[in-house]
Amino acid sequence: MKVYRATGLRYGTPAKQSLGRPVEFQYRMAWECGIDGCGSVFEDVESAVVHQATEHQRRECSVCGTVVPDGYLAIRHAFTEHSRAEYVRAYGASSEAVREREELLEEIESEADMQAIATELKR
Ligand SMILES: [Zn+2]
Ligand SMILES: [Zn+2]
Repeated sequence: MKVYRATGLRYGTPAKQSLGRPVEFQYRMAWECGIDGCGSVFEDVESAVVHQATEHQRRECSVCGTVVPDGYLAIRHAFTEHSRAEYVRAYGASSEAVREREELLEEIESEADMQAIATELKR
């Protein structure tokens, strides 16, 4: 059984605190590509998603065989086109892995400009 390896995007590494203005310290999210230990870091989520779709090899969905961009878009495909049960069966995912990905999708959806991503990918 094929196990889903790509972790998609991880976040962390807050931007450096600007010196002398500790009160206005802003926690900025950076996005790290988690595909095969790639580790590229992006300031905005759109760049990270475009990176995953263009710099990494596309993968075949284990449920339906459609070839989709890796990372976030692969997860999005799996969770919008297929049921959780299908996903778990095809990828051997644990319920924790499913929850992690659902949270990731929500997080990215609330932050990403999907239109900008689509435009970028069409170029
Ligand atoms: Zn990458
Ligand atoms: Zn599929």
